[in-house]
Amino acid sequence: MISVPLLIIGAGPAGLCAAYRAAEAGVDVLILERAQKLGGQLVKQTHKFFGSEKQFASTRGIEIAKILTDRLEGLPGRVELQTDATVLGFYEDGVVTAEVRGKFMKYHPECCIVATGASEKTLAFAGNDLPGVYGAGAVQTLMNEYGVRPGNRVLMIGAGNIGLIVSYQLLQAGVKVAAVLDAADEIGGYLVHASKIRRAGVPILTRHTVERAYGDERVEHAIIHALDDEWKKIPGSEQQFDVDVICVAVGLSPLTDLLWQAGVDMKYIGALGGYVPLRDADMMTSVKGLYIAGDVAGIEEASSAMVEGEIAGIAAALRLGFITEKNEILKKDCLNQLRQLRAGPGSEKIRTGMALAGAYV
Ligand SMILES: Cc1cc2nc3c(=O)[nH]c(=O)nc-3n(C[C@H](O)[C@H](O)[C@H](O)COP(=O)(O)OP(=O)(O)OC[C@H]3O[C@@H](n4cnc5c(N)ncnc54)[C@H](O)[C@@H]3O)c2cc1C
Repeated sequence: MISVPLLIIGAGPAGLCAAYRAAEAGVDVLILERAQKLGGQLVKQTHKFFGSEKQFASTRGIEIAKILTDRLEGLPGRVELQTDATVLGFYEDGVVTAEVRGKFMKYHPECCIVATGASEKTLAFAGNDLPGVYGAGAVQTLMNEYGVRPGNRVLMIGAGNIGLIVSYQLLQAGVKVAAVLDAADEIGGYLVHASKIRRAGVPILTRHTVERAYGDERVEHAIIHALDDEWKKIPGSEQQFDVDVICVAVGLSPLTDLLWQAGVDMKYIGALGGYVPLRDADMMTSVKGLYIAGDVAGIEEASSAMVEGEIAGIAAALRLGFITEKNEILKKDCLNQLRQLRAGPGSEKIRTGMALAGAYV
């Protein structure tokens, strides 16, 4: 059993920012990350981010991952980064088990920050088990991490930011996008992303859904149909698209398995993507010393994930006795940044969800 002052699970923007603030205050930190690379979703993001300057707006996601990792060196606290390290269990006595490069390990952290991000939602339709039906995360990983095109002609399901951005990245990679569908009345993502793909000639069909995928060995074509006011099929509205890829981008759910195991109080909040842990303004859950940050706390954006990570990192440092005036001031500043990030009319859903989860809004 290895004792550690602070264990952080997940090295996405939330986990990396938590580590930075805690180590800056003098805490020794261990980060366990199941992937081979550090940065979470950021390593797949080739586009320039929106948001505020403090959260690296106008910088490409992949570059933000490098900035957040590089600044972990030379801090008063030591940051140990373990990749290929999957946390498997979180026990009620606070013991955490993990597989670290093929070895089974046991840790006993004094404090822990869970920053495991999210998993993709999927969609039930006939033929969705055919090769060629992908989640948007898999398409991004193939293209942006490994330089492999998933196919030649894609039907995108979902016109939120992820569906729109991945459609644009497919076009940039020379793949044809036949159409983007969404069951909702309106495009869910930013209009700037929608305009870019419309300008490239890709139709965005709202109030439409996929009915069925056909093919012998893999996807060869898809049938879609229009939906009426009650979200039922409009008879005779079927259209066929000859595609070899159907990409599903219909939202994310917080990846909360470890929190359930730890016995954290959870609540279903649709506005945050599903079951989320209840938390206080310090991002601490109902289990003392166990904090959360980022998409696992509610599906939002990298900008708020970074600020939540900072808050959790500072709060854990304070709990471990690393109390400085600077920490208190920094925490207040982070809380104000979060409030500003969630201030616009477009963030009303998030504000409502966060209030239900007990977060500072
Ligand atoms: C296509 C796309 C475009 C986006 N564009 C933007 C944008 O322009 N601006 C913006 O602000 N946001 C954007 N986002 C959202 C942003 O990427 C996420 O909100 C952000 O990455 C969440 O950060 P996180 O640290 O909570 O989770 P993640 O980035 O998902 O990181 C979680 C990490 O935890 C690790 N992990 C999970 N389980 C375990 C385990 N059991 N053991 C060890 N490690 C584990 C994962 O491997 C991962 O590295 C975009 C997302 C997508 C998919």
